[in-house]
Amino acid sequence: MSGHKGKRKRTDDPPEEAERPLDLEAVLQKSIERAATLIEQSSRILLLVGAGISTSAGIPDFRSSDGLYAAMKDGRLEEEGRVSETPVSDATLHSPTPSLRSRRAAAVQGERLRQRLQETEDTFKIADPQELASIEVFREHPEVFYSFAKQVLPGDRTPTETHRWIRSLELNGKMLRLYTQNIDQLETAAGIEAVIPCHGTFATASCIRCQRKVPGANIAEEIQKGTVPYCQVCKRSKSKPIRGYLPYMKPDITFFGEPVDTRVEKQLKLDRLQADLLIVIGTSLLIPPIRDIPKLFKHIPQILINRNKPKAIDPEILLLGNCDDIIHRLEEYMQHKGKAGVTR
Ligand SMILES: [Zn+2]
Repeated sequence: MSGHKGKRKRTDDPPEEAERPLDLEAVLQKSIERAATLIEQSSRILLLVGAGISTSAGIPDFRSSDGLYAAMKDGRLEEEGRVSETPVSDATLHSPTPSLRSRRAAAVQGERLRQRLQETEDTFKIADPQELASIEVFREHPEVFYSFAKQVLPGDRTPTETHRWIRSLELNGKMLRLYTQNIDQLETAAGIEAVIPCHGTFATASCIRCQRKVPGANIAEEIQKGTVPYCQVCKRSKSKPIRGYLPYMKPDITFFGEPVDTRVEKQLKLDRLQADLLIVIGTSLLIPPIRDIPKLFKHIPQILINRNKPKAIDPEILLLGNCDDIIHRLEEYMQHKGKAGVTR
């Protein structure tokens, strides 16, 4: 049993480190090691992710109540750094002082979107920012949504370190499923296959009059131009409105006031019987169905990686901080451990 003395008792450690930061660091390191062990022991991991895993890609959250709208409303966008985080990969590749450039770029992007949304609010006299994506407003005034939809459309953005790590879990046969409340499609861009989009997707769009579904690409041009797309079938037949609904096309993302897709709940029930570890990353767990998942999976160990600890979860392992940073450390530790042998 050589080397069982422990790796942090090395005599060459500097003796005069400030005590408090060192303690916090030690706690975090211990938690990372425990998380790594849990992940190693699991083979059907259920992941639950939110806006926090995409902010470093420069995407302010679009829908969730802890996201962009709420932040705009009470001005905590900057404070929480929602648009100024940075991919760790960028930090390590380009700059000794973590990627100021990419932080600035993301902040500028976020600021532009915020201004655009503010203009939309002013133009349409929106009292509550959530109305921008409310189904009731959409039925009457689809032009409100399409005036800014381009800004939130998934584009040629790059998945984050966290997305890539999740994909590696899937490739290693460890991931059962990923539930996301993001609509940026970065999961798909990262190659992740078993994704449940809890708040819908831009991949398809439907006519709010006749419910006909088309590929999202069919309305991409209108979204880019900021004009309202109409259902071609309804338009051709010059149909009358159904229940007062005109034939506007709407991306299949879940708007405020719309029910969550029933397939989410069905899949959760099935996954409940299989999952052996729950990892929650980058979400404040404020809205259903995501909010209720930790409770539903109480019977399995849970890991939380987030800037703060939401009320809706009481995890075995709490990793507080920027998602990409934590994932980076976790991955490094696991790789190192793998190389050094399990008994290290
Ligand atoms: Zn139609």
